[in-house]
Amino acid sequence: MADKKEGRSKSEKRYRKIRRSHIWTSIVEFLVFSVVLAGVLFFAVQAFVSYVIDTKIGSEYEKIQYMARIYDNGLKNNDSNIYNLLVEEGHDYVITGSDGSRIHLNGEDTRGTQSAEVTLSAYDEKVLVYRDSKRDFIYPKNGRLSLDLREFAEWMRDEGKWEEKDPDYALAHNTSIINLPIWISIDVDNGNKHFIGKAVFSSNRRDINLFIALIGSLAGLMGIILITLLGAGVRNFIRQRRMLSLFFTDVVTEGHNQTWLLVKGEHMIRKKSSTKNRFAVVSLKFVNYNTFCICHSVAEGDKILCRIYHLLSGKLRKYETCSHLGLGAYGLILRYNSEDELRQRLGGIIGELENIDSDHKFYFRAGVSLTEKAIDSEGEPVKPKNIKFDTEFNHATGARLSLGPGEDSGIAFFDDKLIEEQKWLDKVQEMQQSALDNEEFLVYYQPKYDPKSEKLKGAEALIRWNSPEFGLIPPGKFIPIFENNGFITEIDHYMIRHVAADQKAWLDKGYKCVPVSVNVSRAHFIESDLADQIKDMVDEIGTPHEYIEIELTESAFFDDKKAMLGTISKLKSYGFAVSMDDFGSGYSSLNSLKDMPLDVLKLDAEFFRGETNDKRAEIVVSEAIKLAKNLNMRIVAEGVEIKEQVDFLAGEGCDMIQGYYFAKPMPKEEYEQKMS
Ligand code: C2E
Ligand code: CA
Ligand code: CA
Repeated sequence: MADKKEGRSKSEKRYRKIRRSHIWTSIVEFLVFSVVLAGVLFFAVQAFVSYVIDTKIGSEYEKIQYMARIYDNGLKNNDSNIYNLLVEEGHDYVITGSDGSRIHLNGEDTRGTQSAEVTLSAYDEKVLVYRDSKRDFIYPKNGRLSLDLREFAEWMRDEGKWEEKDPDYALAHNTSIINLPIWISIDVDNGNKHFIGKAVFSSNRRDINLFIALIGSLAGLMGIILITLLGAGVRNFIRQRRMLSLFFTDVVTEGHNQTWLLVKGEHMIRKKSSTKNRFAVVSLKFVNYNTFCICHSVAEGDKILCRIYHLLSGKLRKYETCSHLGLGAYGLILRYNSEDELRQRLGGIIGELENIDSDHKFYFRAGVSLTEKAIDSEGEPVKPKNIKFDTEFNHATGARLSLGPGEDSGIAFFDDKLIEEQKWLDKVQEMQQSALDNEEFLVYYQPKYDPKSEKLKGAEALIRWNSPEFGLIPPGKFIPIFENNGFITEIDHYMIRHVAADQKAWLDKGYKCVPVSVNVSRAHFIESDLADQIKDMVDEIGTPHEYIEIELTESAFFDDKKAMLGTISKLKSYGFAVSMDDFGSGYSSLNSLKDMPLDVLKLDAEFFRGETNDKRAEIVVSEAIKLAKNLNMRIVAEGVEIKEQVDFLAGEGCDMIQGYYFAKPMPKEEYEQKMS
């Protein structure tokens, strides 16, 4: 049970709380109020009736007491006229002996057999009473006189037993119209005889109307309170339903939101997962949302978001759902049979989404996590009933982000490799600063040779990370991360400073130094004072500028051309040579050559990867060399591994060769030996 609760997401807990508390508080409130009000009404009526009976029967009791006293005195005085005197009083009564035998009687003896002691509220003494056998609506109950209201009301309704034939007359003259008797017994003759008088609770029309009006208004009041309460409960319920639907509604698309997926989506995956129903969680992003909003307006952007949502909803099958999570990010839960089928289906959906607006071409990226392959943070498989939507969605989003920073459409599936990559990324970011502070980064040098004379002409500085934890790490494993998180500028500075320092030390030792090129990242070129930064660093160490060369990868040339040109010109004016790295690996190399006054062209290693006697490749390389020569540039061929390539390049007039044929990148001590 505890596990199950822990498995619930925060949203689900909140959702359940809202749901439960509202229904139950309303129901309980209503029930408690009904019971309390019914009780109050019941006791109020009882108390009122009891009070009225007590007062009326009380005055009858006094008369009977009076008659009993007359009788008692008559007995004492042996008054033979006593019964006449009693009869003259006009009350019905019975006188019995101690054995219960009847001694005298006036009127009809309708006394019942049951008797009980009661206390009348006005008199603090116990009185023995008998119920009437004909009209027994007044009866002793718990030591008090009570009226059986229900029977009495029925009796009045059924037989309409008003005493007068003309009720209107009775009302006008306020005469008694209903008589309810009870017999009161008083001991006489020192307790040897009982004088039992008939006490009549008489009530006229007005009394009864008043009574009915009172009960009616009380009941009415109670009804109003209950109806108000019921109304409030119903309103509460409706409000709660609305709130719940708001809880699940996305304000932009008016469709489902993230909470919907977290609560309902997760529930569906947990309940419906089987070999027949395999679920995929998809993180879909409308790539152009922000730019579209900037170019048009947020309102226009939101309209597109709505259309996307409706298109997605229209594509759903049974047990599938989708939500807009905000800012053009969507979450979907889809069923699939195979990865290929799912990829195709998503591709189709993205294809339609790309053309959702005839005036614009949009791009969408999807990351997919298959719940069947779900794993927890320890890498253990997760059972369907323990699937967490947010974890799966996070994985799907990770897969989507692995598509990189581009602007095109794409689909990526989450896998173990991605987790490893993420973990590595995390680790690198955690270690980067301390690695720099501890000088864990090493400068390796790869010499560049003249293919004809085979003499050392230059070198490229290439970074290595000598981590105490992971050993020697190649740049491919951390440079892209640093380029993404901006740490690359620190690295560039570090390399320039170390290379300048090495060169200075070697010059001081009297070595015949050659220029060493240092890679400067594209990210770094955004800084307008880059040339001055480099100059200051090198000057601080005191290395002559001709011994430092700056390498720019071709991708760097995509950025702000003007700024680029400015930096290159400045670097050149300071006496640093600038080279274009990886020429031929991209698309706009020629264009860049046209605009930028570069000193060195580095032919990309890819030219030398294919077959050895590739005529077409040879033509391209040969023409590139001619082009560089015509532009007054020196040319370096990278990645050259075999003798035939060296010979060919020598024949074509290539200035330098940097490749394994001559030397691999090496630690500075080894390079130092090569120089000497
Ligand atoms: P890059 O600037 O194109 O460097 C040349 C890469 O080609 C180096 O790989 C080098 O070892 C490799 N290479 C050279 N000759 C041969 C060959 O004959 N055969 C083969 N298979 N490979 C050859 P490395 O050192 O692993 O560097 C990889 C990339 O990392 C570099 O490509 C560069 O883009 C980046 N990088 C390395 N050091 C730095 C640095 O200090 N700063 C910056 N910003 N990037 C760096
Ligand atoms: Ca390079
Ligand atoms: Ca290169």
